[in-house]
Amino acid sequence: MRKNIVAGNWKMNNDLSQTGSLIEALKGKTKTSNAEVMVAPTFTNLYQASEALKGEGIEVIAQNVHFAENGAYTGEISASMLKSVGVETVILGHSERREYFNETDEMLAKKVDAVLANNLRVIFCFGEVLEDRKSGNQEVIVEGQIKNALFHLKASAFKNIVLAYEPVWAIGTGETASPEQAQDMHAFIRKTLTDKYGSEVADAVSILYGGSVKPGNAQEIFSKPDVDGGLIGGASLNADDFFAIVNAF
Ligand code: PGA
Repeated sequence: MRKNIVAGNWKMNNDLSQTGSLIEALKGKTKTSNAEVMVAPTFTNLYQASEALKGEGIEVIAQNVHFAENGAYTGEISASMLKSVGVETVILGHSERREYFNETDEMLAKKVDAVLANNLRVIFCFGEVLEDRKSGNQEVIVEGQIKNALFHLKASAFKNIVLAYEPVWAIGTGETASPEQAQDMHAFIRKTLTDKYGSEVADAVSILYGGSVKPGNAQEIFSKPDVDGGLIGGASLNADDFFAIVNAF
């Protein structure tokens, strides 16, 4: 009933010509799974990517957005601007945005509103740092991140929300949450949604796992009942590895 999604977060990698090469390599791959496939190039390469991937079954998505519609916000990009270059989905709340660019739950709530107001979809990221995992506080942290940024929304908004649990200690570190740790947290997230919005809404929301997903571990992680796909960083920069993960479903 809910969608399986594999999204590649290219982060601040690849200039225009490198992006073109990666896109060409992706076009040569065959998808055997039923997962929706997405890639997130940098802002400067979004238009090129969305044009080049039209009709290829790979959606081009953005890594961030500003909450204002337009105006005096030097250096920022609005949701309607993203829409105008063919983007329909925006990643929000990645731990790198939270850590290096001081994005708070409050700011993220506004960004979520701006994206939804433009009829775009959100992939909302959250996750605990290692200290919180070690002290057993991971559920409290995750629950807070979800509530603070999303629980002002009406139930109907969740048809345009995808969640991505990304334990910060597993991002780019080569350390993955075990499939059981991922499943436990995803079940907890679904319960948190059920308590607030009911099971019909909660059961329809895709919850992705992110953090060192590779061709070798994707299948086991994706086999868990509450894991509906992955947000892939490093391994998404290689077309073969990325498609091996897409086809792990
Ligand atoms: P990683 O990154 O796959 O390189 O760990 C995941 C992410 O940051 O979304």
